[in-house]
Amino acid sequence: MAYTPLPINPRGSALKGVRGRVLTYKADPFLVDARDCYDYYEDGIVVIQDGRIINVGPGEEIVRQYPRLQDIDTYADAVIMPGFIDCHVHYVQAPMIASFGDTLLDWLNKYTFPTEAKFADRGFADDVAKVFFRQLLEQGTTTANVFSTSSAESVDAFFEESERYDTRMISGKVLMDRNVPDNLKDRSAEESVAVSERLLKKWHHRGRQLYAVIPRFAPTSTPKQLELAGKLYQRYIDQGVYMHTHLDEAENEIEWVKKLFPDQRDYTDVYKHFGLVDRRSVMAHCCIVREEEWQTLHDSGCGVAHCPCSNLFLGDGQFKMWEAKRHDRPVRVGMGTDVGGGTNFSIPRNLSEAYKVSMLQHHSIDALKAFYLATRGGAEALHLEDTVGSLAPGYEADIAVLTLQPTEFAKWRMKFADDIFEKLFVLMTLGLNDMNIATYVAGRKVYDRERDKPYMYASDFPNTKYEG
Ligand SMILES: [Zn+2]
Repeated sequence: MAYTPLPINPRGSALKGVRGRVLTYKADPFLVDARDCYDYYEDGIVVIQDGRIINVGPGEEIVRQYPRLQDIDTYADAVIMPGFIDCHVHYVQAPMIASFGDTLLDWLNKYTFPTEAKFADRGFADDVAKVFFRQLLEQGTTTANVFSTSSAESVDAFFEESERYDTRMISGKVLMDRNVPDNLKDRSAEESVAVSERLLKKWHHRGRQLYAVIPRFAPTSTPKQLELAGKLYQRYIDQGVYMHTHLDEAENEIEWVKKLFPDQRDYTDVYKHFGLVDRRSVMAHCCIVREEEWQTLHDSGCGVAHCPCSNLFLGDGQFKMWEAKRHDRPVRVGMGTDVGGGTNFSIPRNLSEAYKVSMLQHHSIDALKAFYLATRGGAEALHLEDTVGSLAPGYEADIAVLTLQPTEFAKWRMKFADDIFEKLFVLMTLGLNDMNIATYVAGRKVYDRERDKPYMYASDFPNTKYEG
């Protein structure tokens, strides 16, 4: 498809090109004929100015149109695609990823809560935020929907690091005023929501940062806190503020919610009752979902984060992709790593787990669908499908570059794979950690595996002007 390019801004930045195999999505292959869902160029180029994509198309043809385009990064055997989108991850759990298992609720008490309590210390929060962003960018993830913890320090540390890279991120203070240890527990519902609102005013739409109202999950909030959280969300929903929480992850969690909220029909209805189910809501997991709940999630336009690594690691439920994508009431679905329940930061590796979870239900997710979930699907789940998740004029220039030869063996194996989706399926299924070789955020190559200094902040790049 030919796009209408954006005009060059003569007072803007110098043009930047990223050239090689280019893959991008424009529709949901679970719902629409596969051929209408994507564009692929064997030799393509993405042209960037001022952090935005101004044109995408066949390399030769586009290069001729831009005589001032001198700065081009060319990737020989790699796929240039939109930066990956992680719809559910806890940055504060990076220090306890891969802790020896237990069921969800025991695991929270044993590992998660003691770790999160350390984030009242700003220095600790800063150190973890730094490590977390490096992990994300190394894996090609450029946008994430992120849990911090209950301390304001954990939120400030996260957004400050995000600002340094100029990444588009969503986070906020986690609300929890019961059933958690005292050193994490909010002192009162009123005070906790007031702190959340103060942080919202500070961070929402500051640069590329976006704010979410985050009740951890129904069992760790009093009805009063959920009510005030719902009011806060509703007050700011028109300004694009999010609501992010967990839903229907494990059997014993659902039983607990039933006991705590006996008047509500189901778990989704608990959130709905308090005004938390709406068009900017994102629900993590949704493994064990009643039909009425799918209908509510569809009607409200909620996004769902599928977190297969985490669900398998904690032995929770199996996400039912084909129920979520039922054609008469499809739900927006993206991928989530859910670190530290998830065991790695890589969205492509999570695709391989999604494939296996789906196969247990006798459905297969091919690479075309999988990489949609990793990019545009995630953007749709986060209601950002006009902003990130595709490579097209007007989109923010966030890009991942996946090598098709991450190891000697993979390079050899690729000789027996013909088209691009066969190759991508091999890549995601081998699940290697070194697939992503470069990551661009707002047009800047903030991660480059081969560079002396692999990670660079936005301020490390010179401001070169366009010379027409
Ligand atoms: Zn989670």
